[in-house]
Amino acid sequence: MKRKLADIAAMAGGQLGNPGDADVLIEGVTTDSRRISPGCLFIPLAGERFDGHDFAKDCLQAGAGAVLWSKSRGEAPGPCVLVDDTLEALQRLAKHYLAASHARVVGITGSNGKTTTKDLLFSLLATTFKVHKTQGNYNNHIGLPLTVLSMPEDTEIAVLEMGMSGRHEIELLSKLAEPEAAIVTNIGEAHLLQLGSRLEIARAKLEILSGLREGGLFVYNGDEPLITQVLEEPATAKPANLKLSTFGIAPDNADYPVGIMHLEDKTVFTSHALGDTPLELPLPGEHNVVNALAALTVARYFGVAAPALAEGLKRVELTGMRIETVRGVSGITILNDAYNASPASVKAAIGVLEKKRGYRQKVAVLGDMLELGEDEVEYHREVGRFLDPGKTDLLFTYGKLGAAIAEGAAERLDNERIFSYQDKNELIDALISRLHPQDVLLVKASRGMKLEEVVDAVKSSS
Ligand code: ATP
Ligand code: MG
Repeated sequence: MKRKLADIAAMAGGQLGNPGDADVLIEGVTTDSRRISPGCLFIPLAGERFDGHDFAKDCLQAGAGAVLWSKSRGEAPGPCVLVDDTLEALQRLAKHYLAASHARVVGITGSNGKTTTKDLLFSLLATTFKVHKTQGNYNNHIGLPLTVLSMPEDTEIAVLEMGMSGRHEIELLSKLAEPEAAIVTNIGEAHLLQLGSRLEIARAKLEILSGLREGGLFVYNGDEPLITQVLEEPATAKPANLKLSTFGIAPDNADYPVGIMHLEDKTVFTSHALGDTPLELPLPGEHNVVNALAALTVARYFGVAAPALAEGLKRVELTGMRIETVRGVSGITILNDAYNASPASVKAAIGVLEKKRGYRQKVAVLGDMLELGEDEVEYHREVGRFLDPGKTDLLFTYGKLGAAIAEGAAERLDNERIFSYQDKNELIDALISRLHPQDVLLVKASRGMKLEEVVDAVKSSS
């Protein structure tokens, strides 16, 4: 973004600290005092431990062209735009920048698969358009405006991930971005603790409709009855002339896979809506086919031709692979998914493990899924019951809730195949002693459980 400071003041709803700075040319914005580029606008935000205002002077010395400055903080240390609240000003700035651009906008939310679907859609659209997408996981009330402000001026389509942890967060993001197309990937159990029920989670996700443009397209997972339910609730804000399209596994969706072949490093399927040509997806698991169908629906809406769609799918590059395949010193294959976990994503990952062929033992190492609220124990048992005794050979669990996964698994799996630990080092020792070089291992739990320590230990064991 390149603008005069006077224009930035108008866009952000603030006033110039000094009218003489009106023509100062600003290029780019940052909220990170360690990432000052020459002539950028530094936006100080107040965090839990630091207040960016304290670094403003250093930022100007380091080359920032100007700063946003809260009126309550007294005198600014240099060229500035005075505002009531720097976070709101950041959001306003992004809203105006996007509205004044030529970019058409897609918003993506849902419990699981947002980033994957975003990367898939980017790859499909980039065959034909100049596309800008959310980098990494910059999907919240700060990350989304920063994503928008880093968008090149000649962008034709912006693909924006929208994340949340409570009500009215997606509403804010959607009203900021005013998408023309919106995707809800699915409704899971993440953030159940904050929201109380899956219905309430669905309502939070469908807030994406509140900023969707008139005549906009809503693409949603038709396998999830709660989405249809919330869509029909009178209290759900939605635009006039809303267009609807569904995707999912069930054949009553507008798009569904006709046949799915799970190969070692890719999945091949045919989309009902696209017709006969089998499509190659370089990602494992049925859940990724569903993500691909959502992305394909939106790419077709933008007019991407069928051959480009097939090519775009093949070329997808994920932002930091979530299920990462790691090879250990001894030859063991590890499916590292220790990044995070919720019931839907653990079941999806188990699906990937259980479809693996040509290994001696298939081993699941699962730990606590955090923040699931009062039914957390039952959610863990259910994941345990999901394990197929014909397809998973051994289960190791870690943590207090992990023990409930073991309980659930015990309803179908022999006890000799289940190992439950509260101590990570004990688990690692027991696990390594049972592994063979030709085994494949899935490792998954919530971030806080730090199961990457298990991955590292197995990786270096010989
Ligand atoms: P975050 O909330 O961290 O931004 P996200 O919604 O962006 O997550 P991804 O990063 O795409 O989701 O995937 C996260 C995890 O969810 C991965 O472990 C993946 O295996 C699983 N996953 C991806 N898509 C689906 C899906 N459609 N259904 C269930 N699980 C999924
Ligand atoms: Mg994400």
